[in-house]
Amino acid sequence: MYGIDSVTPTVCKLMNIPEPEGATAEPIKEVTEKAEEIVEKALLYAPDAIGEWLFQAHKDEFIHVIEAAPIQVEVRSMTPSYTPVCYGSMFTGMKPEAHGINKYMKPVLKVETLFDALAKAGKRVALVAVKDCSIDLIFRERDIDYYTEEYDPQVVERVLKLLEDDDYDVIVAYNQEYDDLMHGSTPTAPEAIEAFRRHLGTFKKLAEAFNTRYSDTYRVIAFLPDHGTHVDPETGKGSHGTDGPDDMEVRHFWGLSKGE
Ligand SMILES: [Zn+2]
Repeated sequence: MYGIDSVTPTVCKLMNIPEPEGATAEPIKEVTEKAEEIVEKALLYAPDAIGEWLFQAHKDEFIHVIEAAPIQVEVRSMTPSYTPVCYGSMFTGMKPEAHGINKYMKPVLKVETLFDALAKAGKRVALVAVKDCSIDLIFRERDIDYYTEEYDPQVVERVLKLLEDDDYDVIVAYNQEYDDLMHGSTPTAPEAIEAFRRHLGTFKKLAEAFNTRYSDTYRVIAFLPDHGTHVDPETGKGSHGTDGPDDMEVRHFWGLSKGE
């Protein structure tokens, strides 16, 4: 089974650029073999804490995610399953012991990342994230553009604006409301589920804008959560960080297209 660290080599292979130095994960064949041309534009949506069990419980609601990104790949998260550990691996192609974030901490990564590889290859990258979240902090000091936003809605607005007025080769957009709310309640609490639904709706909206803007360009869009969740028996609240299946199993969705 692939790990979430396979995202970086997959993107590099699709865009025909060298992988970051130190990347060890394999590109995901189910994705790369479907590519008919070199990918010129990529939109990577990273919603926090959407696990495989949540997909299984709400399959029908993924209809628009699957429409935009029909290639489904079950992947394994990283241990310990905390956000900076996971996205550290997702955007370097390395295991936590190799990239150095192996517990809940948010230092700037010292190893080569997908963003270094993209910048070296002359690609323009926008990283759009909520202020002080893992993704906002651990990939700093690269030759890419950082958009630090107040919260999820501003992230979405920013990406829509960039798709309208600018011309990036790769956009990474991070959202965290489901994770925030499930930590304060449980992963199946109504308010958390509403936030999860907003992430699904956001992906649909971003996919439409991306597809409209780059309708004549070979492109990839992906839905890339970092880990799942479980209820902590001690607090009774939503949590993650263990190597249990509810935390470790996630599903990624990829869509390759040209034309409307
Ligand atoms: Zn969390």
